[in-house]
Amino acid sequence: MSALQELQSYIDQSGRIVFFGGAGVSTESGIPDFRSVDGLYNMKYKYPPEMIISHSFFIGRPEEFYEFYRDKMLFLDAKPNAAHRKLAELEAAGKLSAVITQNIDGLHQAAGSGEVLELHGSVWRNYCMGCRKPYGIEAVIGAPGVPRCSCGGLIRPDVVLYEEALDQGVMLRAQKRLRDADLLIVGGTSLSVYPAAGLLKLYRGPLILINKSETPQDARAALLFRENIGEIMDQIRARV
Ligand code: ZN
Repeated sequence: MSALQELQSYIDQSGRIVFFGGAGVSTESGIPDFRSVDGLYNMKYKYPPEMIISHSFFIGRPEEFYEFYRDKMLFLDAKPNAAHRKLAELEAAGKLSAVITQNIDGLHQAAGSGEVLELHGSVWRNYCMGCRKPYGIEAVIGAPGVPRCSCGGLIRPDVVLYEEALDQGVMLRAQKRLRDADLLIVGGTSLSVYPAAGLLKLYRGPLILINKSETPQDARAALLFRENIGEIMDQIRARV
């Protein structure tokens, strides 16, 4: 049996699959990992991305934050790829219970997934830091400079910046889904970023890893793929 046939067999036998994904899931939709600092970043921006996308930088230099954010973190025309679509199909077929993602691009929802646990939030949601009024993406892209609420407060994206804690409600739901899972597929993440490693400890069953580079969990994987995640998921049947 090929590794792909084995993966299909695992999926056929499972009913509470959880998918845990990172930046690699979205690169096939044309969204680069902002952590991959290249020369262009360094020429254009005076600070490394991790510093710009931090709480203290946002509060201290919101104009520079938004310049970088609009330039490097918003990919509003991106479309879901084969991986997003197959995961939505698996959920619709009653086989997948949740997608846990480190991505903030909303592409799982765009593909039709319902239970999407966004550990790092979403660029599509924004709110006023003064009165908590929610805003859509238009508030952030509609005008240049720093977006302000009618109350005068600073509008910020509902994304988890460096130095900030994760949403505890989302974390609890992710933990529950992982404890209840009968198959875990991890894709497009090196599993090196908090809280990935800790979350995975909650899960005891077979682990499928799809990632181009090595991860600390490789030895634990029942199946290991180094291909593009869209390529693998595209060949999976959602319904038996
Ligand atoms: Zn306000």
